[in-house]
Amino acid sequence: MKSFYKELYFNIPERMEFVNITSQVNEALLESGIQEGLCLVNAMHITASVFINDDESGLHRDYKRWLEKLAPHAPIDQYDHNRTGEDNGDAHHKRQIMGREVVVAVTNGKLHFGTWEQIFYGEFDGRRKKRVLVKIIGE
Ligand code: ZN
Repeated sequence: MKSFYKELYFNIPERMEFVNITSQVNEALLESGIQEGLCLVNAMHITASVFINDDESGLHRDYKRWLEKLAPHAPIDQYDHNRTGEDNGDAHHKRQIMGREVVVAVTNGKLHFGTWEQIFYGEFDGRRKKRVLVKIIGE
């Protein structure tokens, strides 16, 4: 069995943003040379997500509004976590609901997606350097 990994770096200027990383994951898959297997993609931070959904800007605005309703950033003193001196209590909650990772099947050297499926990096506490791990195993 072959095994390959690559780390992707992000420095998002906004507090919350979604980035389509499908082409970067595809690139990693090509570099790996793996034809049949599994591709794991996970955020390496507890205030960021990796998720799969549609690349549709209206949906992304809806997500942001929904997440801000579920876990508003302000007032920051509503989160016990922020008593540590941080201000990212909301970002931990947003990450929890949007998930840590995705796994995509690799078939014939390609990411085996359903219709409209794309991979996104979800940032909830941006303005600093962060990483995503792509790990691919197979033959
Ligand atoms: Zn925190």
